Amino acid sequence: MNVVRTIPALRAALAEPRRTGASIGLVPTMGAFHEGHLSLMRRARADCGVVVVSLFVNPTQFNDPSDLEVYPRDAAHDERLAEQAGADFLFAPQPHDMYPAGFATTVSVSGITEVLEGAQRGRQHFDGVATVVTKLFNIVEPDVAYFGQKDAQQALVVKRLVADLDIPVHVEVCPTMREPDGLAMSSRNRLLSEPERDRARSLHRALATVRDAVLRGERDPAAARTAALNELDRAGVQTEYLELVAPQTLTPVPSLEGETLAVVAANVGAIRLIDNETINPLSTTQNAATSTENGRP
Ligand code: AMP
Repeated sequence: MNVVRTIPALRAALAEPRRTGASIGLVPTMGAFHEGHLSLMRRARADCGVVVVSLFVNPTQFNDPSDLEVYPRDAAHDERLAEQAGADFLFAPQPHDMYPAGFATTVSVSGITEVLEGAQRGRQHFDGVATVVTKLFNIVEPDVAYFGQKDAQQALVVKRLVADLDIPVHVEVCPTMREPDGLAMSSRNRLLSEPERDRARSLHRALATVRDAVLRGERDPAAARTAALNELDRAGVQTEYLELVAPQTLTPVPSLEGETLAVVAANVGAIRLIDNETINPLSTTQNAATSTENGRP
């Protein structure tokens, strides 16, 4: 695996495989790799001739400077893991490479960015995501880009900008990898103390509460939501939102008759965590879908 630090060096390295027609897969990340990241890299390895993993803690998508400051960074460990997962190139630029003096352009997606994460974290968050992802697409020109369902709203935003800006890339959204107790893997989990780690399980339990209610026949979103909020309250976490929304538009569903995305964001101590689960009342394979999310298809 080659570690590449500048945009011209990456373009030069990709010129030859592109000329010979190799398909290029891109996995954009902010590092501190865990099984979630590695599952995307392995999927890219299985699908593509060349695998590029980008590692860039993008300052423009952080609304909270202290969050950016404490965001876990572990370059040597990440290089080892990316290589083991089959990456050919680890693209690790510095902020001044991505945002040189005079940088003045923002890619801004409207609509789906204004709710949930956008409402909590402000406009800047998804503007930062959309701009950096557009830059990465222009730098790497991948055939396929891999994103996690863990960040469901982000994946929708990326699909929207790819469609709207006619970017010739296929966006592949991969299942959420979880710890054995259900906690969604996240770089931020390593910042949790032991008792906080225990309380963090309540996010997954809250989503499971919604799913179980739907499978028992509950069709009233308010009732299912109240039961899930109680689960979070009992664990003593500070809920930012827990909503039952339509998977494509992110607007609250009037009834739980169709496919629903249950989304949650909560602060466990000082650590902000998010999770989501797609719930389909008509699916008889709901349990199988859940075990796929556990990384044990
Ligand atoms: P991040 O480094 O947090 O920006 O994440 C990089 C990519 O990994 C994003 O597409 C995330 O959605 C994805 N990702 C993060 N956590 C998980 C997870 N637990 N399972 C699957 N994908 C994940």
